[in-house]
Amino acid sequence: MATIRKHFVGSVLCTVCLWAAVAASAQTADQQQPKSNAAADKPAEKPKPRIRPNDAGSPIPTRAELLRGAYGPFRANNDLLYYHLDIRIDPERKFLSGKNTIRFRMLKDGTRIQLDLTDALAIDKILLGDTALKYDRDGAAVFVNFPHSLHAGQIYSIDFYYSGNPPETGRFGGFTFKRDPSGHVWINTACEESGASVWWPNKDQWRDEVESMDISVAIPSDLVDVSNGKFIGKTDLGDGYTRWDWRVHYPINNYDVSLNIGNYVHFSDQLGDLPLDFYVLPEDLGKAKTQFSQAKGMIEAYQHYFGPYPFAKDGYKLIQAPYSGMEHQSAVTYGNLFKNGYLDRDWTGVGISPRFDFIIIHESGHEWFGNSITALDRADMWIHEGWTTYLESLYVEYRWGTADAIKYLSGYRPKVINMRPIVAERGVNADPTQDQYFKCALMLNTLRSVVDNDTKWWTLLHSFYQRYKYQNIQTEDVVTYFNQNAGLNLTPIFNQYLRHPAIPRLELLFGEAPGMVMYKWAADEEDFAMPVRVGTLDHWQIIHPTTKWQSMQSPLSKDDFQVATDLYYIEVNKQ
Ligand SMILES: [Zn+2]
Repeated sequence: MATIRKHFVGSVLCTVCLWAAVAASAQTADQQQPKSNAAADKPAEKPKPRIRPNDAGSPIPTRAELLRGAYGPFRANNDLLYYHLDIRIDPERKFLSGKNTIRFRMLKDGTRIQLDLTDALAIDKILLGDTALKYDRDGAAVFVNFPHSLHAGQIYSIDFYYSGNPPETGRFGGFTFKRDPSGHVWINTACEESGASVWWPNKDQWRDEVESMDISVAIPSDLVDVSNGKFIGKTDLGDGYTRWDWRVHYPINNYDVSLNIGNYVHFSDQLGDLPLDFYVLPEDLGKAKTQFSQAKGMIEAYQHYFGPYPFAKDGYKLIQAPYSGMEHQSAVTYGNLFKNGYLDRDWTGVGISPRFDFIIIHESGHEWFGNSITALDRADMWIHEGWTTYLESLYVEYRWGTADAIKYLSGYRPKVINMRPIVAERGVNADPTQDQYFKCALMLNTLRSVVDNDTKWWTLLHSFYQRYKYQNIQTEDVVTYFNQNAGLNLTPIFNQYLRHPAIPRLELLFGEAPGMVMYKWAADEEDFAMPVRVGTLDHWQIIHPTTKWQSMQSPLSKDDFQVATDLYYIEVNKQ
């Protein structure tokens, strides 16, 4: 697999991989040591992850990002219903051609809608029935003009024909023509960061999704295409090409739509009624049969916490790809060397990650958070990544218990940078800080401690997911739901973690009077208030600090007085 390894180093596709590549050199010695249960109430050693420019501040958006990011009038005037992406791919010429049929309902009368397609690809024609439509291109934005006004409430369908050589673009590659280690054609897409319009025409934003989709891919007959959804069938086109048809029965993100074309072999399994299908290169079949057996336990764990696998009609697929992995809906891609951990490393550095395959557990967790529940705007992407990172710890908890889950999460602390708020600017195709992964997982673990009732916490998680499955939401929806259903005002806590760079700091002042400890939170949110466990490992006591000084009696000395920093992601300052 040496060849494949090279791919990993050279091409970074999933956002997780992106972070991993950045963080690879940041595995510091303190990550290798398990944290004690009560962890340090001394200030933790400053983490030393490498920082992307983006983590330090948000860049000024370009015109292209505004066009991509804004939910402007020519997007807001229509509601997507259906796509049929029907394309032919010529591996020798690295050329693709075909059309996307786009069905939508107008929400307002209008003569213009906005679609998107990279300007590296040609628009051959756009038809409404037999009528060729005029269009204006502005970078990757395509404004389609109709000769007569379209009417609110009416459904329309247009055929968007295009062709060209899709360029590899961005860190994720977008659309790549590669060869597998045996020299066979290997074509893959992964375009979360760049956007799906780097290889096919669509309404390239997050807020609006089609309700269902068909994907038809014509390729040389010796190859296999695995895309999203249920395999419908393949048709020999008689010219050396075969068309593979896949049907997605659910709403789907544009960036989840994917092609995996190669010399794949297939094996399958079943979890109850749910079909599990696996596609790998023939030389890796043996290893895959062993490693992919983890998929069953993963789905069982997530079903335990959140309810049934969201895309039952489409089945669950795991597909080998030349990059570490991506959450493509019902067609998760995998390139983690058929080894546990993450790219053969202990991902959180505390000895737990080597027990499972990080890519199977993380990328598949996105089926619940990212694919089923989706953020409205990339600015709120923590709803995908923070939640899914937390799901990793739920998997650990399901398999090995609470203590190991807490320990696993503690390994994320040194990866947090705390330089920029998690929720980025909306409407500008923002690239959120990598803190959205680890800080948000630690925040959710903190909220569990604030709720302080695991039965209630598990019910909250389950009902939150059930309330918003198959929907597109934003941070405010999460906060409102938890406030209402936990019966607590968690807004200042969410705000502190999501909308300010700094985490709350517990200020402890000793010795004002004998046996007395004074305490308060230092936080950016004026009304920040959060209970926290203090005392000793065998005798915790919950105090309720606010941003105003309070005092408590304690026989403990400054050195003996501990704070349960493994249960709350906070800083502690003892003076
Ligand atoms: Zn992820």
